[in-house]
Amino acid sequence: MPALLLALAASAVLARQDDDAADAGRIVFPAEASQGALVFGRVPPGSEVRYGARSLRVSGWGTVVFGLGRNEAGPVEVTVVPPEGAPVTERIRVAARDWPVERVDGVPPKTVSPPPEIAARIQREQARVTAARERDDDRTDFARQFVWPVEGRISGRFGSGRVYNGQAAPSGHSGMDIAVPTGTPVKAPAAGTVTFAEPDLYLTGGTVVIDHGFGVSSNFLHLSRIDVQVGDRVEQGQAFAAVGATGRATGPHLHWGMNWFDVRVDPLLVLERGD
Ligand SMILES: [Zn+2]
Repeated sequence: MPALLLALAASAVLARQDDDAADAGRIVFPAEASQGALVFGRVPPGSEVRYGARSLRVSGWGTVVFGLGRNEAGPVEVTVVPPEGAPVTERIRVAARDWPVERVDGVPPKTVSPPPEIAARIQREQARVTAARERDDDRTDFARQFVWPVEGRISGRFGSGRVYNGQAAPSGHSGMDIAVPTGTPVKAPAAGTVTFAEPDLYLTGGTVVIDHGFGVSSNFLHLSRIDVQVGDRVEQGQAFAAVGATGRATGPHLHWGMNWFDVRVDPLLVLERGD
C-alpha cells in the first residue's frame, strides 16, 4: 500500500479510537424516539441508571436499553448517576404514531368471547408468558442488528387497533404478522435463550419466547412445530420452529412480538434500527 494511503488508514483508525474513547465517558441518548421503539443509550460504564420504576442494567461498554409503549406520550426521563461526577437527567421526546384499525373476520367465535372457564385458562397461560418476560439476563444479544425470522408479506402491523369479528379488542395488535405457509422454518432474529416453549396455548397456539438479554425478548405465536426447549441457547438465524395457524388465527402466518419486560415494542422498528 502506498505510504499516503497507509497514513490515511492509520489516521482513520486513530480517529475511530478517539471517538470510542470520547464516547466511553459520555452520556448519549436520542433527543426523540417513536412510540413502540427500543431506545438505546450510552453511559459511562459503572453508572447507575434509572428509567421509571426500573433500574437499567449497564453493559461493560456502557450500553443501556429500554422500550417505549404504543401509548407512551412522553417526554420520558432517564437518570444517570455516573461513577464520577453529578447525576444527569436526560429527557427524550416521544414521537406519536398513527395507529390504523385492522378488521379481522372469520376468527373462531370461542376465541373472541371465551366462556369463563376458558377465560381463566387464558389468564393462567398469559401469566406464565409474562413471567418469562421478566428476566433481566446480562447477555447483550439484543445489541446486534436483528434479522427477519421469515420473509414474506406483512399482513398485520404492530399497534394497529384490532376488530375481531366486528368486536373491538381492548388493546392494539401486540406484534407483527408475516404471511407465510405452514411449515416455513422460523429463524431466531437475534441470538438468545429460550425461556418459554409450549405447543398449545388457547389464544396463541404454539408459543416460544426467546430472551435476548437486558429485558428484551421476542415471542413467536401460532407455531405448528417447536424444535427447542426452555433453557436452549439459539444463535441468530437458527431455525427453531415452524409457522402454523394454531390458536386464534385465521390462516397460517408468523406473529412476531417483541418486549422490553412488560412493554411491547415494534419489531419493525427494531429491524430498521441498523438501516
Ligand atoms: Zn398477530
